[in-house]
Amino acid sequence: MERALQCASCPAQGEFGVDAMKGTSAPVSIADLQSEDFFRSLVPALSISDRITAEPYPLAAPARWSSSGYALLRDVVPGHRVPMLAEAIRALVARGLHPIFAYVFDEFWEPALSVQAYAQSVLGPCSLLGDGWAWLIPVGDRYGGWSAHRDCRHDVSMATLWVALTDTDIDSACMHLVPLDRDPAFTARRLDDDSATDRGIAIGARAGSALFWDARMLHWGGRSSERAHSPRISVSYTFAANAALGVDAREALDPRGSFPFRKRLGAIASMIALYDFREPLPDAITNWGRMFGRRRAADVRSRLSPDELREHVIHHCCTRRCYGRAGESALCCKVAERDCIIGPVTDSSSFLDRLAAERGRPVPSSEVFVDFDEGRALFPTRSTWQNPAHYPAMRVHVDAAKGHPCRFLSEHGECTIHAIRPAVCRNYHCEHLSTVLSML
Ligand code: SF4
Ligand code: SF4
Repeated sequence: MERALQCASCPAQGEFGVDAMKGTSAPVSIADLQSEDFFRSLVPALSISDRITAEPYPLAAPARWSSSGYALLRDVVPGHRVPMLAEAIRALVARGLHPIFAYVFDEFWEPALSVQAYAQSVLGPCSLLGDGWAWLIPVGDRYGGWSAHRDCRHDVSMATLWVALTDTDIDSACMHLVPLDRDPAFTARRLDDDSATDRGIAIGARAGSALFWDARMLHWGGRSSERAHSPRISVSYTFAANAALGVDAREALDPRGSFPFRKRLGAIASMIALYDFREPLPDAITNWGRMFGRRRAADVRSRLSPDELREHVIHHCCTRRCYGRAGESALCCKVAERDCIIGPVTDSSSFLDRLAAERGRPVPSSEVFVDFDEGRALFPTRSTWQNPAHYPAMRVHVDAAKGHPCRFLSEHGECTIHAIRPAVCRNYHCEHLSTVLSML
């Protein structure tokens, strides 16, 4: 069998730190997470009360749902609030917490409540679900949002509200949507088909504004770049028509009713249990989320399509249990001390086209590939780098301390171009991963 990814001894030696809580000065304990006082002291400018109110978003605003299935809503978060919310997420991250914990604060539920009447005008009577996420995507092309997906693969009325807390544009990981009327898979109601990524449009949003889209829409978070003016900070929410409740196990919430701290923690735990496969979190946090949100997440996962389940397993295996080692990730995306090379990239030309479309600029070959002349000098003692048949190869950061990682590998051990990665990566399953997949 041909080995697309040339590797003399997989897996590599050495440590890889997957730690979304990095940056902390002192470890945050599970007891801290469950303490209202801990969060109050961390962000004293925000509040945690028993119920939440919010002014409705003005329905007379020009944004209108249309056949495209999305609308841009301006000023969903009042101007004076925007920096406060962005700062709160920065404070959580600086303390070593994932931004998802912002949902303990009243102010992070207000955007959803203020838009609920608008959502109702689109979906009919609807509820807010315990399904959302929060992001802080750092500056730099190693960072980006979630890969292409649909928030709902059932043919029901659901919508996602995504709120920008910093200005986003093509350089700072703005959202990309495939409008429903441009997506052949949607027209044919093949909601497990995510292939229309070449029809996506990048949509910038000012801080405080929001995108509201049909949850069946194919979409993804863009890449950041060195040209980004700041990290991208954003939050999301999900609404479902009441008639669609129960289609899957995502639970309706009522923040206007009794919504104390413990209930919010339960919602956060369920979100972590739903989406930990998208972002590697520390095991303690993942386990905590699964304990509190386990049943709901398991119910939702049981509704994944076979392709989604396969992607989910690959993602979990490669980012959390690479080669069966707990906490290990992406060993085959680093050269480390091994005699291996990530090549040959047989679809180099179409890969460059995909990358250029995603980045919105031409991408020179030398930016992402190493050719034979350069490669053989980079690693003169490694046989895989001395064979011209293995080129072009993926460019790596020549940094022994970091294990010579592929230039597209994030510091969390994830491929930052997962949806458009070249065939050499798409087709490579190490022995361990092949065994796991054969059991599905
Ligand atoms: S294929 Fe996945 S599990 Fe196997 S070495 Fe690569 S990252 Fe690790
Ligand atoms: S492109 Fe992505 S999958 Fe391929 S080696 Fe680089 S980080 Fe890994």
